[in-house]
Amino acid sequence: MFLAISASLCLGHPLALAGAQRPNSAAERYEPVVDELRKMQPQGERVASIRNVTLRRDVIEFHLEDGQLFLATPVAGRTLGAIFVGHGSVSFAPPIAIERRELKRVLGDSVLNARISTAAFLFTDSTLAELGRQLTFGGGGVADRASGVLSDALDHLVDGRHVVQPTLITALLNGDSDGFFYAHVKREHGEDLMFVVDPADAEQVAVLRRGREGEKIQVVSEFRRAEDLNDTTTVEPARRAALKLNAYRIEATIAGGLGFSATATTRLTAQRAGVHWARLDLLAELDVDSVREEGGRAVSFFRPSKTSELWVRFDPAPRVGDTLALRVAYHGDLIGYTSITQGIARQWPGWVKGQLPPAPDRWLYVKTSYSWFPRYGQQTADVDLTFHTPKRYHLASIGRLVDSHIDGSAVTSHWVTARPADQVCFSIGEVDEFKINDPRIPPVTVHMNGEAHRQLDKFFLALRDQLGASNAFVSGFLSERSPEQDVGADVANSLAFFTRIYGPPLFDRYYAAEIPFDYGQAFPGLIYLPVWTFQAMSDSGYDEILRAHEMAHQWWGIGIEPASYRDRWLAEGFAEFSGLWYMQIVLGDNEKFFKHLKHWRRELRGRRNDAPPIGIGWRAEQLNVRDSRLTTYYKGAWVLHMLRNLMLNLRTMQEDAFIATMRDFYGQYRGRRASTRDFQRVVERHLKTDMKWFFDEWVDGTAIPTYVLSWHAEPTQGGQAGHYTLHVRVRQEDAPKEFTMPVPLKITFVDTTMHALVRLGVTGPLTEATLDLPAEPKRLELNPLESVLAEVREEGWE
Ligand SMILES: [Zn+2]
Repeated sequence: MFLAISASLCLGHPLALAGAQRPNSAAERYEPVVDELRKMQPQGERVASIRNVTLRRDVIEFHLEDGQLFLATPVAGRTLGAIFVGHGSVSFAPPIAIERRELKRVLGDSVLNARISTAAFLFTDSTLAELGRQLTFGGGGVADRASGVLSDALDHLVDGRHVVQPTLITALLNGDSDGFFYAHVKREHGEDLMFVVDPADAEQVAVLRRGREGEKIQVVSEFRRAEDLNDTTTVEPARRAALKLNAYRIEATIAGGLGFSATATTRLTAQRAGVHWARLDLLAELDVDSVREEGGRAVSFFRPSKTSELWVRFDPAPRVGDTLALRVAYHGDLIGYTSITQGIARQWPGWVKGQLPPAPDRWLYVKTSYSWFPRYGQQTADVDLTFHTPKRYHLASIGRLVDSHIDGSAVTSHWVTARPADQVCFSIGEVDEFKINDPRIPPVTVHMNGEAHRQLDKFFLALRDQLGASNAFVSGFLSERSPEQDVGADVANSLAFFTRIYGPPLFDRYYAAEIPFDYGQAFPGLIYLPVWTFQAMSDSGYDEILRAHEMAHQWWGIGIEPASYRDRWLAEGFAEFSGLWYMQIVLGDNEKFFKHLKHWRRELRGRRNDAPPIGIGWRAEQLNVRDSRLTTYYKGAWVLHMLRNLMLNLRTMQEDAFIATMRDFYGQYRGRRASTRDFQRVVERHLKTDMKWFFDEWVDGTAIPTYVLSWHAEPTQGGQAGHYTLHVRVRQEDAPKEFTMPVPLKITFVDTTMHALVRLGVTGPLTEATLDLPAEPKRLELNPLESVLAEVREEGWE
């Protein structure tokens, strides 16, 4: 990032500002810093007239034509705010195509050029020094309008004592000048926008606005700085962090009454000097008893209320290369307790009329899979876990079980990860344990709450008596089958299938644990499966997809981790496709396979091409929470299905090329992070051609084309006897002019059962082709194998 200020003649001494700044030093306490930030005010006695000053941040340009610039009251002894009041503009165009389209989708134009009336700038970069060189600050300002925009800016930045921009508060606490820049802008027309340069982000430049549905902010646009744009290497999260995370050691006790207490030791190495303050995350419901360094010295800490933040202060700050071990003792309500029948009764009281079974089902669950111990960022670490748990519960954890023994009424189990992990969790409950020993796969242990299912059966039987035996919904929950066998079979078979197709998974034993919710989740060597996949068994193939999806994460998401949020489909889309593929193979049912694909296409088409692109990852759900599933999962699965079809040998119907590609990608990145670009490179190597167009269209683009097919055929003039000349025309709708895709075309003939399958390159609004056929064609079918995410219509030849 660079900053250019071009100012008109300014009177007065440019050094008027010097001396106002104390040398920065780390704050002693958290609260006064946040309180000063929250109460920041424009100062009527530190105001400058401003004419034609241009502030440039990467591609964002603020042009301050004329008006006044107020400096704000200092925070932690430094001036970090300036407020502009007057006439000006802000403009930018995102440097990458996907962000230009996204800006158009969200704000209505692919570039922004807006008149502004006020703007509040907050910074820990060189802004103040640069302004100080150009302007002269004195008294005489009326700060009313400046107060308004500053207070709106702070409203979005500070929530109680939680600061929404972590890089800003970290810089203030540490007395750092780390290059953070933030502008809250009031446009003359339209909502306020915020512009951010955050050096802690891989994509440092962002434009935000007020979030929907209670969220403070929403990302409108985000991208790398100009100088980083061409860098496509995958950056480990540890690279930019002030502290490198090495290891977690957690010793946790779950008491008979489910009270949770633990000590967690976090081992960190300083990568930067002057890091007094560091932020960890710990579930807000967990109370910290003490924080100490390994030698026993107390470390001061602060937790903003109602947040998961845990700020710790090192004194002295570690030197670069120093390793710290931070020991946090904490306790609280981590283990939840629930009953599904009682939950249903609460939700639909009319249904059950108080006819609850005598003993409700009993379930334990872990309230968060993320911050149940003090976490430092998203880095991976070696994890060593010891659990002391009541004997009547079964526990499943990530890591390898290295020891387990009984002390009286408690079991102590010790688990150690074989490779660094960032998805760290366990499950606990009064469950039945089934072990699967199948020569094709590593050992698998299934934990199922058998007693709860017996209670649920009683409940649904009672409900059926009440609602009538013909009630299909209730009957769906009264399976005759034994769920542990169905679930166990899918767990084992999908593990075997993916091992055969993709290559060996990372771990040498697996757990599948039932949870009392309607979603699944995957951790290294451990998957959560929802209660309903054990209770209700649909015939649609849905349950096979769901179980195999969670297992597939051992390859996609854990075996290979997405490099950034934009690559999340490499986990979810790949897992969804893998689940679908497994279902097709295990049920031997192509009809169900296509039914799911078509259902996903219908959902995608339902959004009339305004569904967000896969390539914005989680940001898809900012406008519509369902869009994440729609694009990352469904469209992601479709993209792999399209590649599978592109690589399909239409003569032999062999899919060796696709399998080899997937296997190669997995083998190359196993145990590492990968990006969409990395995957593209592997695909290109196997197809021996540039595939940028494919990823641009389907991952970064949003179009779902409609093909309108027409044709006619005539005996070939002067050619071989019996030959026909076929004229094919495809009109393409709902897609950009340059949109291109090879689409299979099936030709059946008069007087023969033979058919031909060819690929037709469909490009742009009109594609015409002429084919010489050995017989008279009877029927043409475009996209017969659902090879392309598209709609097909036919029209008469004119
Ligand atoms: Zn998933």
